[in-house]
Formats: sequence, structure tokens, C-alpha cells
Amino acid sequence: MSAATGRRHASISRATATIDVKAIERNCARLAAELTGGAALCAVVKADGYGHGAAEAARAALAGGATWLAVAAAAEAAELRAELPGARLLVLGALTPAELDLALGADADITVWKPDFLALVRSRGEALGRRPRVHVKYDTGMGRLGERDPGAVTSLVDETAAGPGAELVGLWTHFATADEPGSRFFDQQLGRFRELGLPLRERRPGLLLHAANSAATLREPSSHLDMVRCGIAVYGLDPFGEDPGQRDLRPALELRSYVADVKPFEPGASAGYGRKWRATEATHVGVLPIGYGDGIRRALTNNAEVLVGGRRRPVIGTISMDNLTIDLGPEPDVERGAPAVLIGAQGDDRILAEEVARRLATINYEVTCGISPRVPREYLR
Ligand SMILES: *Cc1c(COP(=O)(O)O)cnc(C)c1O
Repeated sequence: MSAATGRRHASISRATATIDVKAIERNCARLAAELTGGAALCAVVKADGYGHGAAEAARAALAGGATWLAVAAAAEAAELRAELPGARLLVLGALTPAELDLALGADADITVWKPDFLALVRSRGEALGRRPRVHVKYDTGMGRLGERDPGAVTSLVDETAAGPGAELVGLWTHFATADEPGSRFFDQQLGRFRELGLPLRERRPGLLLHAANSAATLREPSSHLDMVRCGIAVYGLDPFGEDPGQRDLRPALELRSYVADVKPFEPGASAGYGRKWRATEATHVGVLPIGYGDGIRRALTNNAEVLVGGRRRPVIGTISMDNLTIDLGPEPDVERGAPAVLIGAQGDDRILAEEVARRLATINYEVTCGISPRVPREYLR
């Protein structure tokens, strides 16, 4: 029985995201078991753990065998540090001088790809009485942050290790097309990274090489190197946009609401702003008190399904900020107060974040990250 059906009679609020922390723990254990050559698992918990709650997700990931955590921003590192005093923590993103101080204050490892930033890191480390731990970023083809020139990368690695005031920890890159099966560009990026990184690690034993995101981890063992940085798969979402069950990943998040009202509609009656749906025959409309203010995107207007009474019901009419409407049919078999599932399982059916993403022409990442702070997160332990 799924968590959702098991909790049908639990207290419901207008909208709740239920996070099964055991699923996160288990997904991490499943990923860690697959890693080659003793590679470490770094759980990526940026953007509030992809909408799941960063601290709870981090704790579950560590329980499941992750030994590192990564975030994008200094403020995220500071928040996590307050909850997890002992965890190894890496900030992946760019840092302004103020953010650098915040990251160093949180005792997080940081990313460097410019000599002038390394100089700043050294001087801020000294000022704060800390020895910053540095991961150099090599842009092998993503074309965002990072140094592109292999010679410059090598110099920066050497300079970080040689100079005072900072500790060289790692060298890393990020793939642009790991989620495209058969991508030659992925092979090229991995080839570039290994070509530069492996000899550097020969010279500097202990240098931590890391490159793989979830997709790379699942598709290419030679990308595991010393550490993988998995985000999406940790949450049981599929990096390739398919059914996570195919790769033995268990979705951790369910998004639920309830039927706040049921009312009869005569043919021609409309529901919602702009009258984007009209009853073609006598039917009943259910109103769910959840909308785009909660992260149910307006582009799902007339373009989604919700589980109520163990069956799929079409979303009809415009998604409002705080409400949406569903068609319950001429002889409604559910009553006011019935639980509704927007993402997750009910009865024998399940709506995956991947399905919602497909309807929106986006990716599952954006679906769970988009669940707004107005939706309380409830943790199943
Ligand atoms: C977000 C992120 C990851 C995790 O990617 P997933 O596809 O969610 O596994 C890894 N590395 C970097 C640099 C990232 O920004």
C-alpha cells in the first residue's frame, strides 16, 4: 500500500506535500550500491531539496549512505549547516564576496575557477580564521561557470595546492547532455575530464574527481570517478523523464488536496476564469482548494488529471491562484471532503511528476521545485 492510501484518513489541509523520507534513504542506498571503484555519493539538496525540504532530504540521504551534500547557494549552505553540524558540504555555484563569507562561515567547501577569486578566497579565509577547502571547476562543455582552458585549469589546481591559506580538495565538471541516451557530446565531455583529471590525480593523490549527475551515474559507470553528485534520482524522480520504477527509484513526494465542494452543472454552465470550459451535458464539478499559488501551473488548465475516489478525473477550466475544478461526471461517486492526489498514488493508479512535466513540456525537476512555500511539507518517517 502506498503512503498516500495508507494515510487517507490523516488530517488534511487544503494542500499538503507528503515526503516519504524512507524513500529518499532507500534511493540513496540503491544509488550508492551501484557506484564503481568506491566512489562517494554526494546528495544534491539545492532549491530546498528539489522542493522536498533540504534538511529532511539531507538527513535521509546521509542515512542512506550519502557522505557529501551539495547546494547551489551560500544561504542554502548556511541553513543546512545549522541543522547538520558535521556534514561535508559543497557549494556548487558562483559566490559574491558577501556570499563567500557566508559559505566559509558555514564551513562549506567552495568552487573556484578564476585566479582572482582564489586570491579573494585566501584573503577572506585568513580574515575569518578559516582554511577554505576548494574544488576547481573545469568547463568541459556545459558552457556555464568554470574554466574552459585545460592549461588554465591545471595552473589553478597547482596554484591552489601550492599557495598558503587554502586547501585543494577536488576538481569537477558538469555534463550538458547526460540525460540524452547515446549522446556523443556526453562522451566527449567525459573524455576531456578524464584526460585532464586522471593524470592530475596521479600527481596529487587524494584529489577528488567528480563529474556525474544522476543521469550520468545511472548510464555510465566510468563517470563515477571519486564521487557522484546525484539530485533528481535521490528524490525518486527519473533523470530521463520516464517512469522512475523502471530504474528502481521510488518517488518520495506526493501532493494532495481535497474536494472542498461538489456542485451540479447544467449544460452550458462554465467553471473558472475566462469560461475556458463549459459543461456539454449535465455533470458535477468538484472544487479543489489548490492552484498556481501552490505551484499547480496555470498551463495545466484543461490539461491535467487528479486522482479522486481512486480514479482519474480531468481538470476542467482555468487553474486559479487558489482553486481548480475537476469533472466528477453526472453521477458523482465522491463526496465533499474526499482526498485528491495531484502527484502520487491513490487506489491502483498513480500520477507521476514525470506525467505532469510532460503535459507542461518541462522536466520533473521543475514540477517539484515549483511546489510553493505555501504548501506545508509533511514528513513520513
Ligand atoms: C543540480 C546539479 C547536480 C544534480 O543533478 P541531477 O540531474 O539532479 O542529478 C549535479 N551537479 C551540479 C553541478 C548541479 O548543478
